[in-house]
Amino acid sequence: MSSTLSVRNEDDPVTDFRSKATLGVAAAAILFMLPVGVYDLIRGETAIGIGSMAVVFILLANAWMAMRGICHQFLTLYGLFPAGMMFMTNIFRMDGIIASFWCYPIVLAAYCMLSERRAWMANLTILIFAMPMVWMTLDNDYALRVTASLGAVSLFAAIMVNVIDGQRQQLQRQLVLDPLTGLLNRLTYNDCMEQAVRLHDRYRQPVSLLAIDIDNFKLLNDTRGHAAGDQVLSMVGHLLRDMLRDEDAIFRMGGEEFTVVLKGANQCAATETAERLRQAVAAADFTGMCRITISIGVAELESEESWESWAKRSDDSLYEAKRRGRNRVVLNEQRKSGERGEAMLAGMS
Ligand code: GH3
Ligand code: MG
Ligand code: MG
Repeated sequence: MSSTLSVRNEDDPVTDFRSKATLGVAAAAILFMLPVGVYDLIRGETAIGIGSMAVVFILLANAWMAMRGICHQFLTLYGLFPAGMMFMTNIFRMDGIIASFWCYPIVLAAYCMLSERRAWMANLTILIFAMPMVWMTLDNDYALRVTASLGAVSLFAAIMVNVIDGQRQQLQRQLVLDPLTGLLNRLTYNDCMEQAVRLHDRYRQPVSLLAIDIDNFKLLNDTRGHAAGDQVLSMVGHLLRDMLRDEDAIFRMGGEEFTVVLKGANQCAATETAERLRQAVAAADFTGMCRITISIGVAELESEESWESWAKRSDDSLYEAKRRGRNRVVLNEQRKSGERGEAMLAGMS
């Protein structure tokens, strides 16, 4: 579904949660691990002391990257965890019971800093690494208890993160989706338009906009009631989702107005798509015997154009479609040799 695809972006609260948790882990490392590292250095345990300092340093670098919005999971997965494993192996060899204590915060840190699937993998790796060490270096009695408690902590952390991530994703969906139609609401519209302009400027890929409005919707509300109007809105939303591609972003802008960002579509392709939509709506049988129509304004993004001007051109064409009698598609043609062409009538009932 196009709506869910468009939800995924860098402002995703799940990603935001990981960034904040990474800062928390770094703060905890300074608070708890740094003093232990300093203590180890003072008492002559140079290897362990330097190892602790190195882990704290990587955690701080992680936090710095997270604050700057750089993907920090790479450093965590391929820097911190291998380093942590080697460090833990060393301590196990020197003093088994002490190393086993550090397994617990490492497991929890994985769930704080990594995406759920990566955290499972890191957790599994920690268990595969630590368990043989535990059984080789500790008495069976201790080893059994460390195995059981580490297993339980791993399971609880996995369940907790699974529930939290699920709830956050649900919240995110509720935030950006219109409940009546399941389409995107206005919240992410500006970001989506800015991104479309950026991609167009960088890759020179065509992108077009459809401004869609249901014709005489007020009349339908007045004659058939608000509930029937809602049902029509929901069915138009379904129809748009069914007929458009996953990569197209479909917004309900409010009331009976919709906007579609057609990625990779030039003005000809966009006009054809708009005409298909117009015909499908006109032919559809909404709520029994009620027939409705839509008007559509089409505009392809031009070079060096702002998204505001692009959106205005599609709106202008929509008003032109209304003015010419509704149930039609009007294209705002691209400028040729400095002049914007005449609006083109592409479809009539
Ligand atoms: P036009 O063809 O010029 O677009 O005329 P119109 O009647 O469709 O446009 P107008 O802007 O006059 O009316 C839009 C109506 O949409 C008015 C408002 O009551 C109705 N509306 C807005 N939001 C909702 C909604 O969520 N549900 C329902 N059922 N109606 C809504
Ligand atoms: Mg209308
Ligand atoms: Mg309207």
